Amino acid sequence: MPIERNSPDRRGYFGNFGGRFVPEVLVAALDELEVALEGAFADPEFWAEYHAVLRDFVGRPTPLYRVGRLPGGERVPVLLKREDLNHTGAHKVNNTVGQALLARRMGKKRLIAETGAGQHGVATATVGAKFGMHVDVYMGALDIERQALNVYLMELLGARVHSVGGASQTLKDAINEAFRVWAARVEDTFYVIGSVVGAHPYPYMVREFQRVIGDETREQCLQRFGRLPSDVIACVGGGSNALGIFSAFLADSDVRLWGVEAGGEGVESGRTAAALTAGSVGVLHGSRSYVLQSAEGQVRETQSVSAGLDYPGVGPEHAHLRESGRATYVTIDDAEALAAFRSLAAHEGIIPALESAHAIAFAQRLAGQRGADDLVVVNLSGRGDKDIAQIRART
Ligand SMILES: *Cc1c(COP(=O)(O)O)cnc(C)c1O
Repeated sequence: MPIERNSPDRRGYFGNFGGRFVPEVLVAALDELEVALEGAFADPEFWAEYHAVLRDFVGRPTPLYRVGRLPGGERVPVLLKREDLNHTGAHKVNNTVGQALLARRMGKKRLIAETGAGQHGVATATVGAKFGMHVDVYMGALDIERQALNVYLMELLGARVHSVGGASQTLKDAINEAFRVWAARVEDTFYVIGSVVGAHPYPYMVREFQRVIGDETREQCLQRFGRLPSDVIACVGGGSNALGIFSAFLADSDVRLWGVEAGGEGVESGRTAAALTAGSVGVLHGSRSYVLQSAEGQVRETQSVSAGLDYPGVGPEHAHLRESGRATYVTIDDAEALAAFRSLAAHEGIIPALESAHAIAFAQRLAGQRGADDLVVVNLSGRGDKDIAQIRART
């Protein structure tokens, strides 16, 4: 059973952020989820099964690997938490395993999910196949065109992919559709959200299903080096891989926590996905946090070379960690992320996801300011196989 650390208050707030901004029809469903969650989290058998699935199906624990040749990291120990080695190639499956087990415990027979780039859809379809649950995935019509391979993959895994129209025909519309579908059939349907976003209790629940990353990292650091890291770095889209690794170090005030947002073409250009850095306080997808929006509150189009970071909001706990000063948020632009992608591939033999390349780029910069006694840990959230065609087309 996890130790209660930094839990939201009873209304689902982390400081000034979070909460539940949803239509009346969903309040009962969120209440039901919250009760089931509390029961599951207090049940050692639930966690035992979760960890057994992560061990045998996902391949955990993932290694904490010291790189030796990465430019910038020659003098300073730089360690990669290898979430890229998980089954399905990223951290997202930790969360979908947890939510599928919870859905089964609640007697729900059908999983629904929304997806932008398709990664969360694939992770949900994967656990649907494993646990024998029906999966419906909602995806913007434009994204279906752009991510044809992931659509095919989801169908191969037995999921049904539904095309969603609307103004943008992307993730924003897909999320609205998933909420609508959930409200229409809450009795047998479980909505699997892919990051630490949405109405309470989702941000808290998803963090708890990702904290395994941080718990393992902490233990591996102490075992191998006899000390905690000086710095922990992770990229931030919605923020789940970052909170997953941060959560184990929140109480260790000497460990500096760095969240790396996608600068896109540069924060000043306005063509960015850095919600904390360039956004303002607002409500998106059921909770209060930072949002990229116009002065009138219209959600802005976002821009990032990595589809997984291309989201106009950010999880409420990150807004809180920034406001409290416990974590620091920086940006890395498209060009810097692309250079880090090539750098890790050519010098270490590891091809990172473009999302994770943002964290690598910042680690290279930070390592220049650190010494041999420091330990810089980077969460390598996923592998880059999915990005090869895109990289190749740009050159
Ligand atoms: C989806 C994704 C992300 C962004 O999501 P978070 O919730 O911010 O972690 C980062 N890296 C990879 C590899 C992803 O697939």
